[in-house]
Amino acid sequence: MIRFPTELVQIEAPKGEDAPVIRAGGTDLGERRRLRMVTGPLLDLRDVAELRTVEWDPTGAATLGARVTIAEAAADEALVRAYPGLCAAAGALATPQIRAVGTLGGNLLQANRCWYFRSPDVRCLKRGGTTCLSRAGDHLYHSCFDLGPCACVHPSTLGMALLAYEASVMVHGAADRTVEALYGDGSDATGDHRLEPGAVLTHVVMPPPRANEQAAYFRTISRARSEWPLVEVLVRLVIEGGTVSFARVAMGGVAPVPLRLPAVEAALVGGPADSAAFAKAAAIAKDGAKPLPMTGYKVALVEGTVLETLERASHATPSEATAGTAVAEPAPPATADQGGA
Ligand SMILES: Cc1cc2nc3c(=O)[nH]c(=O)nc-3n(C[C@H](O)[C@H](O)[C@H](O)COP(=O)(O)OP(=O)(O)OC[C@H]3O[C@@H](n4cnc5c(N)ncnc54)[C@H](O)[C@@H]3O)c2cc1C
Repeated sequence: MIRFPTELVQIEAPKGEDAPVIRAGGTDLGERRRLRMVTGPLLDLRDVAELRTVEWDPTGAATLGARVTIAEAAADEALVRAYPGLCAAAGALATPQIRAVGTLGGNLLQANRCWYFRSPDVRCLKRGGTTCLSRAGDHLYHSCFDLGPCACVHPSTLGMALLAYEASVMVHGAADRTVEALYGDGSDATGDHRLEPGAVLTHVVMPPPRANEQAAYFRTISRARSEWPLVEVLVRLVIEGGTVSFARVAMGGVAPVPLRLPAVEAALVGGPADSAAFAKAAAIAKDGAKPLPMTGYKVALVEGTVLETLERASHATPSEATAGTAVAEPAPPATADQGGA
């Protein structure tokens, strides 16, 4: 059975594991249903118009509906002015087809891509088994920051990007929370996020944009396109008179949750915005790495990817948006004809 509510109020409070499964674009869920990993009734968000908007408050901060598509987020001119790193990350992930259908909420809450997790023939730790099968098996694309019992890497590029923006999410049927709290610290092997079953992520709340921010997103990838990254990084910098006065750095593809890198940020702030300082800060990104036997190669990629992203951010055009300035009229709601898969 599939229900198509038109308003959030029509969605009842979650009923634990028996709650219907939420469907947004369906690009991840559809595959897991095909594999019979997910069964039971669906609640499709296609017709909930209040989840399709981008709204701006007087401080210039945006609130994005969970059903805004990845392509819409990447192309929205006001968002690009205010949050250039987020839009660059959105425009670089997956394929044009996936970005046209996949949504912000679905991207944040998608399941990991570990081949043991997705195999119908075995039952890994995340699916009720007793052990992480990748550890003794093939874990070439898995964690090099081994934070918990499950060695998979978190799949969400936008989750990583939103960590660097210190964004929060609004939730229908459970508590609102920061993106950091949405994912936890990677020690929980039972899921890829901590949203309660049946709860609906309704909006992403961005903080006000920073004046003159320079941002870049860069991924190291094993083929040119249509692939998850080996390592991906988002950097936000404010550079004043050649000195870094603000830095946010987040990294994905390396751990069961996206990581923010506060030690790298601390090393950057107050220092010169030059290649030598960036190289020193990038080397710190490897601290705490605990590679598995097959993921040692990723540790070198961590340093190189952070360095490349820092260099790109330092050469990026400073953003035009400033906190306290409304950056645009609210974007019109997206058309509903890009509905569920
Ligand atoms: C070739 C390829 C490459 C890719 N590369 C990348 C990449 O580099 N980076 C990346 O991030 N992704 C990548 N993806 C994954 C893609 O981005 C996701 O499939 C997509 O973002 C999921 O969005 P969706 O709206 O279709 O989610 P759905 O499939 O509809 O849902 C995904 C999950 O989220 C839950 N859900 C969705 N919306 C809500 C909500 N509002 N509230 C509560 N629960 C919800 C669903 O129940 C489901 O469990 C790639 C995919 C492919 C096929």
